[in-house]
Amino acid sequence: MTTSDQEIYDLIGVGFGPSNLSLAVALDEAQTPIRAKFLEAQPHFAWHPGMMIPGADMQISFLKDLVGQRNPQSPYTFVSYLHHKGRLNRFINRKTFFPSRVEFNDYLSWVAAQFPVCDYDRKVVGIEAVDHHGAVDAVDVVTRAASGAETRYRARNLVIAPGGVAKFPAFCNDHADDPRVIHAKDYMTSVVSSLRPGERIAIIGAGQSAAEIFADLADRPEAPQLDLIMRGRTIKPSDDSPFVNEIFDPSQTDAFYALPEGARHAALDELAATNYSVVDEDLICTIYEMVYEQSVVAEKRLSIQSDTLVTQLETTGETLALTLSHAGEMRTERYDRIICATGYTRALDQQVLHGIAQYCLKTVPGRDYRLPMADGFAPSVYVQGYSEPTHGLSDTLLSVLAQRSEEIVATLAEAPVQAREIAAE
Ligand SMILES: Cc1cc2nc3c(=O)[nH]c(=O)nc-3n(C[C@H](O)[C@H](O)[C@H](O)COP(=O)(O)OP(=O)(O)OC[C@H]3O[C@@H](n4cnc5c(N)ncnc54)[C@H](O)[C@@H]3O)c2cc1C
Repeated sequence: MTTSDQEIYDLIGVGFGPSNLSLAVALDEAQTPIRAKFLEAQPHFAWHPGMMIPGADMQISFLKDLVGQRNPQSPYTFVSYLHHKGRLNRFINRKTFFPSRVEFNDYLSWVAAQFPVCDYDRKVVGIEAVDHHGAVDAVDVVTRAASGAETRYRARNLVIAPGGVAKFPAFCNDHADDPRVIHAKDYMTSVVSSLRPGERIAIIGAGQSAAEIFADLADRPEAPQLDLIMRGRTIKPSDDSPFVNEIFDPSQTDAFYALPEGARHAALDELAATNYSVVDEDLICTIYEMVYEQSVVAEKRLSIQSDTLVTQLETTGETLALTLSHAGEMRTERYDRIICATGYTRALDQQVLHGIAQYCLKTVPGRDYRLPMADGFAPSVYVQGYSEPTHGLSDTLLSVLAQRSEEIVATLAEAPVQAREIAAE
């Protein structure tokens, strides 16, 4: 194992997705003396590379970029990016708030390239407390490169923002190593690159990713046979109407946080249709047209199997057999591949945090995004994207990045002192 250098960083960030990239910009614009280093598992900046589906649009206004709601005059806004790339006027002519996902990734990559504060190909595999006679004043962050080489970094504070972990349904448990059982997050890299003519593919799920994959595959020249399988009765539209959209305003975080726990649960349930198991209405219409068109020419290549539960997955020779339950009847269907568009879990990786777990009083962060740590543990441990139950639906999205970063920067200067105060509460 090598040690990165002799430097003790004021802050180390785990992951360099939009959350920590936004924080890197906020640190720079606040002109703080904080020396930060971010550690990213991927070999270069890439935002959801496996879901860069051609034609997929953003589900958030470009005005909710990395910085704009905090500092509209920043040189790192999406508008600045467009201007720099010479596309501002043509973007305006499109008359939309929603860039393509490909363009937004290009914007994020453009900002990331201007912040050489990230070491790539550094997957964080462990965090250890640096204990001096019972008092912890720093942490060691252990990373592993694709080559297997390990590097150790030391920091006074941490900000953990590794995003979600792909969630597979239980029927996939015994098939984790089967390359034909794929999560949506790997769609472009694992499916599109090796698609064979006429393949039979099951897509499990009823959310935006499932719908995007269905529509994309349906249009491909390989003409795969597609079953979109979902538990629910139908594909439902996401609610992005103006009053509902107000729940994503950064000003709502305080109001949500102040609610009693039961009321928070109820609010999350009530507003789940803004984000979970729902699909943009224009995509629903596209899919409806596709399925309708094939009925005109009496084809049966595309099928929506709603109200259908997958109960079992078995490997039978060359094919994958799914047992499906619909209206009280069971049947078996055979597929060449199964794509699980079944979402992501957001739980802090206890294996990575193992070395500091004994100091962590709770895995639920406070309003300031810090985990409450035991007395004697000076480093502040912030989390980004892990507070939906306490901070609201915006927390896993791009909606509050700019303000959340600003809040974290504001507390960082005094972080070690305040960490002790939390423990004492
Ligand atoms: C396909 C897709 C489209 C989406 N579209 C939208 C949208 O239009 N609008 C919206 O508001 N939200 C959208 N989201 C939600 C999404 O969570 C946010 O857009 C955003 O990605 C959150 O940023 P993040 O930095 O917290 O997490 P991520 O973007 O997931 O970034 C986390 C980073 O951490 C790295 N990492 C993970 N583990 C480690 C480790 N152990 N060591 C080092 N690095 C690690 C990952 O490689 C990754 O680069 C979308 C999500 C998906 C999956």
